[in-house]
Amino acid sequence: MTVTVEALRRPRIKPEHRAYRTVDGNVRIGSVIHGIGAEIADPQGWVWTLVEAMDGTRGPAAVVDEVVRAHPDLPGEDARQAMADLLAAGFVDDAGAAVPLPERERVRYSRGVPLLRWMDLAPRSNPWDAQLRLRRARVLLIGVGGTGGHAAQSLVSSGVGRVHCVDPDVVELSNLNRQPLFRESDIGRPKAEAAVAALRAVNSDVTVTGERREVRGPADLADLVAGPRDVDSDILVPHSPSGAPDPDPDGLDPHFAAGPGDLDSGDLVPHSVSGARDPDPSGPAAGLPDDARRPDPPAAVPGDGPRSSAYDLLVLAADRPDDIRRWANRVCLAAGLPWADAGYRGPLVTAGVYVPGRGACWECLRAGEAARRDLRLAPGQDPEVASPRMPWNPASAVTAGLSGGLLAHAALALLTGVPALEPGFRFGINLMLLGDPVLQRTPRHLDCAACGDRAGGVAE
Ligand SMILES: [Zn+2]
Repeated sequence: MTVTVEALRRPRIKPEHRAYRTVDGNVRIGSVIHGIGAEIADPQGWVWTLVEAMDGTRGPAAVVDEVVRAHPDLPGEDARQAMADLLAAGFVDDAGAAVPLPERERVRYSRGVPLLRWMDLAPRSNPWDAQLRLRRARVLLIGVGGTGGHAAQSLVSSGVGRVHCVDPDVVELSNLNRQPLFRESDIGRPKAEAAVAALRAVNSDVTVTGERREVRGPADLADLVAGPRDVDSDILVPHSPSGAPDPDPDGLDPHFAAGPGDLDSGDLVPHSVSGARDPDPSGPAAGLPDDARRPDPPAAVPGDGPRSSAYDLLVLAADRPDDIRRWANRVCLAAGLPWADAGYRGPLVTAGVYVPGRGACWECLRAGEAARRDLRLAPGQDPEVASPRMPWNPASAVTAGLSGGLLAHAALALLTGVPALEPGFRFGINLMLLGDPVLQRTPRHLDCAACGDRAGGVAE
């Protein structure tokens, strides 16, 4: 679905993207945050009039009238096209859009929706679209300990419509230094049961279920991913609003119509604001019209391909058995199910984002990392010797909280498309080197045993 200016009741520059005028007369918009902002040349001053007129008090035609009144030589079509360009770039929402949720949820999510709106660079008619996507979403969560407990809290409090929690363990005293869903009174209780109770107490407007179950092999995981046989997908999502249009994942290409040669005519041309929307912060700040107009990657919205799962996403927050990530990778590839995982190795905390058919799979990425790290191992030596695994996995409330937070961010981004992610990567933080954020990305390996052209199957 393409959102047009005419479909907006009262177009408004998003409050979070509020524009200002630079000393040289350009218009900077959304510029507080690197990755969002743009700068627009405005030699005739009408762009500034336009963004001021787009304050959410008038319809599109009245906005154009307002600009033409102040700049009589300007063709109205130019103002209209500029408004369309701002919408396409994600700077505009509709102040007159209806809120498609009951009052209670409107209040509950009244801080989260503006954040989604802030990070959303796709044109949407309604800022609540992303929240509706969460409401319809079905997530399978494996592991509700440190990482999983923090992630579950975030997913449930954010309004993910259905979360199913799986964990084989019981609560122990040694869990309580980092696992937020449990109290001393839960010691000895199955984690899945205690987690469901804690999560339901946070948000009774969503559906939280759970089961005490151990994943012993890929078959167990495949069974979980397939979901309960007797559950009709319609009743998985309570109170599903009807008729709410899905934002079109193909419509996420913000671009401006004008080329650099049109600068003098006063047309909109985005420029990087100190490298805004330029993935390399050290890159040149100006003169990058081609780069600046590079389309953002499409949202990694589950449902892109054929899928055989009762869920929209697997969130893996378990690190046992040792091969569980490999199994998850194979099972999700077979089911066409997007998935995310997270964990820590001491002070290094990372999360991974994977969508079958879109970029590297977990095994591609692992092979790429092994090659990049140049471990200087002897032939035949197990790469695991370079990264010790202990029966006790050292962790604190801080590392578990970061891990769960990154995992929830990945999950929410995959479910909503906000912000748009290009899947097939790991990201994270090394607490020993705060200025050196982790980003691992590798191209998909065509000969990958899991996702390559001659890939085998689920089990190994
Ligand atoms: Zn692969």
